Amino acid sequence: MKKTLILLLLSTGFSFGQSKLKPEIDKKASSIEAKVIDWRRDFHQYPELGNQEVRTAKIVADHLRSLGMEVEEGIAVTGVVGILRGGKAGPTVALRADMDALPVPERNDLPFRSQVVAEYNGQKTGVMHACGHDTHVAILMGVAEVLSDMKSEISGTVKFIFQPAEEGITEPGVTSWGAKQMVEEGVMKDVDAIFGLHINSQTEVGSIKYRSGPAMAAVDNLNIEVNGRQAHGASPWSSVDPIVTASQIVMGLQTILSRNVNITQHPAIVTIGAIHGGIRHNIIPEKVDMIGTIRTYSDEQQELIHKRIKEISVGIAQSAGASAKVSIDELYPATVNDADLTLKMVSSLYDAAGKENVIYHEPITGAEDFSFFQKEAPGLFIFLGGMPKGGNPVTAPSHHTPDFMIDESGFLLGVKVMSYLAVDYLDLKK
Ligand SMILES: [Zn+2]
Ligand SMILES: [Zn+2]
Repeated sequence: MKKTLILLLLSTGFSFGQSKLKPEIDKKASSIEAKVIDWRRDFHQYPELGNQEVRTAKIVADHLRSLGMEVEEGIAVTGVVGILRGGKAGPTVALRADMDALPVPERNDLPFRSQVVAEYNGQKTGVMHACGHDTHVAILMGVAEVLSDMKSEISGTVKFIFQPAEEGITEPGVTSWGAKQMVEEGVMKDVDAIFGLHINSQTEVGSIKYRSGPAMAAVDNLNIEVNGRQAHGASPWSSVDPIVTASQIVMGLQTILSRNVNITQHPAIVTIGAIHGGIRHNIIPEKVDMIGTIRTYSDEQQELIHKRIKEISVGIAQSAGASAKVSIDELYPATVNDADLTLKMVSSLYDAAGKENVIYHEPITGAEDFSFFQKEAPGLFIFLGGMPKGGNPVTAPSHHTPDFMIDESGFLLGVKVMSYLAVDYLDLKK
């Protein structure tokens, strides 16, 4: 029933926050569009890997300071936080951008293409903003400038969070997990709600995508070690064959999704990505290692799947006289957009992009560490179109590839929508 009501409200464009500041935001955003594009080109040309965003962070911090904000640097190694205190009392809303680039060599003719080379996992590689985080930083710097301009009319506080290392740990010795560590260092303590966006190279410029509830998956790494008894390949009866046992485990794991998980609630994925065992055609080895990935959208399903993976692996190994050790590393939790908050903010998305350009998206099996912020306060994470109008989403280069390309004409909407979300939320709560 509740679901039906929410959908009905969404489809009628039921609206909550309606800040009077929007015309002023539009004007200011348009006046700084060229600056936002310039910032982004500069970040694009000089990308930095996770926790090494020193240059980027300095430009961000200098900009926020020039706007008169209180600025804190060096959070989670290279993170920056700026505080904009409005002229009127109210809650605190956070806006987040991630700053890191990827070990991907750039392949295009852009005059501002990256020629940066860095060492990654002991290898020299080109570095590129191949996920578009350069656009996130530039857009949020623009939002900071827009909202600073109307500070006296803002009812509450806007916290600008510039986060390092969204893509994960880059090298041994670098221990910050971007969002997770920022949370551990207290950035969410006084935050009532948080908003974030991700540019998307396969969504047309001018569009916004969103989803209520679990929108992106939790990701866990799975490791299974199967131990048997080594023997000559010609006398298998004297072995405990870990290859046959591992094969049974792989097949057994597939029954979790077909027989244990209530798939009407959420999708889930268990993938074995690599199997290593043995060295020669006539030796049954002692041990097989398997690694894989698990994607889930709820804590309950995640727990159930972990439990069944352990039971199935250990049980099958035992039945063969072998043994199995299972370890699961939980990486990012699911990105869950708070249903109540999403319902309240959808009118801000409509106002920014036009209702016909706001698309409700399917669950995404990728992960995003924005989820750590959402564990601390209700949050909404949206996608912003970055593909040229008329482009083909199937053939447009995807994120994390050398041909990744973003249309700069999409940034203005990014500045507007993040500004709208902030002021509408604060208005709603005042
Ligand atoms: Zn990425
Ligand atoms: Zn990304």
